[in-house]
Amino acid sequence: MTRRAAGGRAALRWAAAGLALTLVGLSAPRAQAYCRTSSCEEGVGARCVPAQANDCGVELFWPTSCVGYTLQKDASGEVDLATARALAAQAFAAWSQASCEQGGSPSVSAIELGDVGCDRVEYNQDGENANIIMFRDVVWPHDSRALALTTVTYALDTGKIRDADMELNTATATFTTGDQGVVVDTLSILTHEAGHFLGLSHAPTPEATMFRDYPPTSTGIRTLEPDDAAGICAVYPPGQGQACDPAPRNGLGEECSSGGGEGGGGADGDDEADGEGCAARPRSQGGGGAAALVVAALCAALRARARAGARPRS
Ligand SMILES: [Zn+2]
Repeated sequence: MTRRAAGGRAALRWAAAGLALTLVGLSAPRAQAYCRTSSCEEGVGARCVPAQANDCGVELFWPTSCVGYTLQKDASGEVDLATARALAAQAFAAWSQASCEQGGSPSVSAIELGDVGCDRVEYNQDGENANIIMFRDVVWPHDSRALALTTVTYALDTGKIRDADMELNTATATFTTGDQGVVVDTLSILTHEAGHFLGLSHAPTPEATMFRDYPPTSTGIRTLEPDDAAGICAVYPPGQGQACDPAPRNGLGEECSSGGGEGGGGADGDDEADGEGCAARPRSQGGGGAAALVVAALCAALRARARAGARPRS
């Protein structure tokens, strides 16, 4: 059977919640809000804290305390390999070093496994794999507003993540790497996408790194906010004690499979892939005039790619 998940923008309908806070006192901290990506009957979904009306399914997570990732060796004309390597490490470190409310840090880290020749988003059910960070300098094949897309393949029944690939849109957006002359800040985008890579969905709060909007020229989401920390700590509670196995599913493959095409190896069987796109979408604010602010939305679409033959494992 073919599963086709609902595409389009993630709904922003929220359930009323939080009344209990009124009894805690004047200094009570705001309850943290975050959403985890989930596997729902209809396809990709989310489960949020506080709960959202359309929460569904099983939350995604990596079944290891250390996830291996690689960089596509050509990197980008805008971001060279050495810089990409350093920034990716910094982006993942923001998540693994988050401070959890319960003390300690999340029981997950990411380990770079070198660079690879493969430049395709794919998951091979029966062959070697690589979780790849790749730049699209020439053609951006996704939503034209998207700055980046992270595609996660997971087991439908358990939510265990099998593979994740991150694409950055250097074809139509200008990515910068320093603190001066910032256009689209590479580290900010990598940090946001690393959140998707590790199993988080878009957060409802505008200040969160996992919020869908990215204000151009900002470097503000290089670091995590309390909402983001609460999210990653919920996915990987401190002291969880999972084993460390950074090897991709069926071992590291440095070249693409010969199956051809995106996702060429196929994820038929018990796995499904979804991508979360993060877009820049200019919009005007205020009543017009020369001083009207123009801001951009980072993350526009929650897209799911249907997989022929994908079905829940019984
Ligand atoms: Zn996003």
